[in-house]
Amino acid sequence: MNTPGFVKAVNRINWCGGFSPNIIGCAPAPGNGILVVRFTSSLEGILWAHEHGHTRGLRHRNSSTAVMAPSIANTRNVPSQVPASLQNTFGVT
Ligand SMILES: [Zn+2]
Repeated sequence: MNTPGFVKAVNRINWCGGFSPNIIGCAPAPGNGILVVRFTSSLEGILWAHEHGHTRGLRHRNSSTAVMAPSIANTRNVPSQVPASLQNTFGVT
């Protein structure tokens, strides 16, 4: 998973530094690649942004609006953390 630019979409992740069912993304922090499960299209960009954040060394945050919150929801504040030119890519309308 440490090949530069590596992104792998899989059907299921049960291990990300520990066993847990229903993991939807995994990435080393820092690192060079991400592992993601295809997810609800409206939230998939947030998932990818979150996992990319891990590769840049970011850890989970406790804020319910942070992209780096440990769970996913449509309340994540992507606009303040993603350049405007990439907001459509990250599911912001
Ligand atoms: Zn995470």
